[in-house]
Amino acid sequence: MQTNANVSAEEIARFEKLAARWWDPDGESRPLHDLNPVRAAYVSGRVNLRGAKVVDVGCGGGLLSEALARAGAQVTAIDLGAKLIEIAKLHLFESNLQVDYRVQSSTELAETEPASFDAVCCMEMIEHVPDPAALIGDLAAMLKPGGQLFLSTLNRTPAAFGAAILGAEYLMRLLPRGTHHYAQFLKPSEVAGMLRRFDLEIEDIKGLAYNPLTRNASLSSNTAVNYVLSARKVG
Ligand code: SAH
Repeated sequence: MQTNANVSAEEIARFEKLAARWWDPDGESRPLHDLNPVRAAYVSGRVNLRGAKVVDVGCGGGLLSEALARAGAQVTAIDLGAKLIEIAKLHLFESNLQVDYRVQSSTELAETEPASFDAVCCMEMIEHVPDPAALIGDLAAMLKPGGQLFLSTLNRTPAAFGAAILGAEYLMRLLPRGTHHYAQFLKPSEVAGMLRRFDLEIEDIKGLAYNPLTRNASLSSNTAVNYVLSARKVG
């Protein structure tokens, strides 16, 4: 793994343990599998993906990266979990899609390919980095002027604590214990403040409703647990 100030080695190791089962819809990534069609539709409904240059930051095993590629985007996808990138690359043999997967930090990509992407996606990752504002700075730097950022994370509310930690990690045991840390969850107002610092204007925010029992996922107006937003780079 590359050295990078804005990464927790512990977090990466935790996700790498899940690599082999990442594409199993009934494995630990099950909530991501269930949410994926909804968030992919959210992105494709707000940006014309055909031929667009898109980057998926913190891509894991590539669930969203592949969905974006299937919709016609030219996808770059980065993660610091080398095992996850390995699994993501292997899965391309099954899907017959093309994605440029790299073990690379957001900071490095922002430096080497500034203002290069029509859209930047960063889903369920910002709550795992030590400095979320610095991550948003990197994401902003990757965007072309007028480009769009799509970001999803967990809100810091009792409801999110109940659903994502108590429910998913302790009661239903969908996720390994310790996957999420309540203090790192972000309120939309906090994310909005970070976005403004980097000339990103919020255009939309929606709740991501998920019922782990029925495995039903949908967009909603309730952002108390999980939410996805789109923001545009001014300029
Ligand atoms: N975005 C994917 C995976 C979410 S899981 C999806 O929603 O389907 C969180 C991912 O973020 C893991 O793959 C983990 O390795 C990655 N991650 C955590 N901290 C990171 C960092 N600092 N830099 C890059 N990737 C990171």
